[in-house]
Parts: sequence; C-alpha cells; structure tokens
Amino acid sequence: MHTVQARGILSAEKCMNVYRGCTHGCIYCDSRSVCYGMDHPFEDVAVKENAPELLDRALHGKKRRCMIHTGAMCDPYLPLEAQCRLTRRCNEIIARRGFGLSIQTKSDGILEDLDLLQRIARQSKCVAQMTLTTCDEKLCKILEPGVCGTRRRARALKQMTQAGIETVAWISPILPFLNDTEENLRGLLEFCFDAGVKGILCWNMGVTLREGSREYFYQALYRHFPGLKREYARQYGLAYECVSPQSPRLMEIFHGECEKRGVMHHVDEIFRYLHEFPAAGEQLSFF
Ligand code: SF4
Repeated sequence: MHTVQARGILSAEKCMNVYRGCTHGCIYCDSRSVCYGMDHPFEDVAVKENAPELLDRALHGKKRRCMIHTGAMCDPYLPLEAQCRLTRRCNEIIARRGFGLSIQTKSDGILEDLDLLQRIARQSKCVAQMTLTTCDEKLCKILEPGVCGTRRRARALKQMTQAGIETVAWISPILPFLNDTEENLRGLLEFCFDAGVKGILCWNMGVTLREGSREYFYQALYRHFPGLKREYARQYGLAYECVSPQSPRLMEIFHGECEKRGVMHHVDEIFRYLHEFPAAGEQLSFF
C-alpha cells in the first residue's frame, strides 16, 4: 500500500472510495479494467489519507442530506482497514452529520462497524450490500482468494439484518460453465432469504470483461480450469458480455423465487431504493 492526498472524495453521484486498488484478488474484477486509468499496480492500494477531512468538509457544506455510496469500485473493508480505519472514520462522519449510507463489500470485516451502521440506520437509513457468487467454498477460494468465503458473508448479512440494518445481496457475476447451475443459484438464494435481505441484485447470469480485466480473468481461468479454454474462446472470444447459455432459465428461477419470498429483485427498483433518502418525518432519532 501507499498513501496519497486526494483532491476530492465525493463524486457528483455522492459515491466515494477511500481506497484505490484492492487485495481481495477476485479473478473477474472489473475495477482492474484499463478504462479506470489506475496509475499503480492494482494490489498496491492507494490509501487516501485525507479522505475523512475531505468528506467532512464536503458534507458540512450540503444543505440537503442524502445517501452516500461506497464500495462500488474498491472494497472498503480490505485487510488494511484494520490499521488505516479510513472507512470507519468516514462512517463516523456520515453518522455525525446525519447522512445515509449505502455500503458494499465482500468482507465480513464490515461487522467491525456494526455499531456505526446501526446508528446511521436509527437516524436515517443504512443499507449494507454483500456479494455472493458461489456456494462451493473451494470454488470461492479460487474465484475470490483474498476474502472470506460465502458462508461467512451470508452470516454477516444475517447478523446485520438482525441488528436492524437493511441488506441487499448481489448475485454477480455468474461465470459460464463454473457457477451457472441451478443448484448454485438455489443455494445462494437460500442464503439470502435466510439472512432476511430486502433485495437481490442480479442483471443476468454472466460476467463482463474488458481490456485489463479480460487478460487477468483468462489467465486465472486457464490456470485453474484449463479444460474451459476452448469453450470460452469459442463462445466469447473478446466479447464484453459473456452470458451463460443457462441464463434465461436461471433468471426465470431467480425472479420467480424472489417474487414468492417478497424480496425486491428488479434492478431499477433496487437502485431507486438505494438512492432514496427518507423524508424528514421518516427519520427516527437524529433531530
Ligand atoms: S472485491 Fe471488488 S474490487 Fe476487490 S478484487 Fe474483488 S471485485 Fe475487485
């Protein structure tokens, strides 16, 4: 890791990343793509030392409170968070200034901040999001080698829901010929339903690849599953969207099961929900 002084921290869409780069090592990671213009090795994480000060200043000047989003590009609970505490310090500011938080991770390190997430949830709104891709822990260790396995993530989701925090699961990506089975999908859905999630995000049963992420993915895929080389080359080549031939059937199961359980499952609806900040009368205890 290396430290940097950032010039700004909040995008126009109220998104922030206190770290740039990631050490979780997911083989399908889109954030590695060349289009993001990262000027250092992806695993040599840039730690934005002044992120809390920048955030405090940015929120201080805001007339209207809103949701702050983090975790879409780089995981906020990398192992180095234990020492840097930047995510925690930013969450403290969000809580103190009465804003809402939508936070996305693959790590159960998020539980370290349970007290803060609860405080934000009590005051306004906090949505914790966790990605699940496979029920097979061995496969999980290959696909996402640097972060805790699916069962631990599912337990963290459940713990957060039980603590009064709203949760959304991401079932994404689904890799053709690897985790694109009905058994896997039903297993992941059971984890989500058991955890009491409010919504599940799933665009389709596939993965997107572009320059930078594609090379990394194929190298890892062929190292671990040499038998898939021909199939991937034949079906997808340099395609951006690699959708499983099983996608239509699996998506029908996905929507049907979520509908039955009363869990949000339409992408637009979930994104609307993630961006909605409760009106003044609906906020519980900040004022
Ligand atoms: S957690 Fe996210 S940013 Fe980190 S390697 Fe995995 S996909 Fe990439």
